[in-house]
Order: sequence, then structure tokens, then C-alpha cells
Amino acid sequence: MAVTKVWVETDNCTSCEACVSSCPEVFEMNNDVAIIKAEASNADFLAANSESIKQAAQDCPCEAIKYEEA
Ligand code: SF4
Repeated sequence: MAVTKVWVETDNCTSCEACVSSCPEVFEMNNDVAIIKAEASNADFLAANSESIKQAAQDCPCEAIKYEEA
């Protein structure tokens, strides 16, 4: 299934930067929290990066990365 939406629950983010290391295409740091890069609002871009987004969500120690898929 392809990721159709991804976001970071920034209140839960502890700035570990694991997601930025593992999936720099989608995640970046801003003021000590992870955010989604602007490019990732594109559906084709999200679909192409689905597996790495899911892996980043699984690896986030704070369960701060959420996504929807279809
Ligand atoms: S892996 Fe999770 S806790 Fe670490 S920077 Fe990314 S969103 Fe924040």
C-alpha cells in the first residue's frame, strides 16, 4: 500500500534525528522537531517513498511519525 499522508506529532518528537538519517527525502529538522519536507505534499512523491516512510515510523522511538495509506 502507498502512503497517502504523513505527519509528525511534534509534541512527541524528542529531536533524535533518526528519521532524518534514515529518510532524508521526506524528513528534516526545524527548531528541534522533525517536519515533513514541502516536496512530500506531492502524492507521487509520497508513494515513491512509502517503504522508507513506514520504516521511519516504525523506527521512531517516540511513535511520533504517523501516516495514512491506501
Ligand atoms: S525519529 Fe521520531 S523522535 Fe526522532 S526526530 Fe524523527 S520524529 Fe522526532
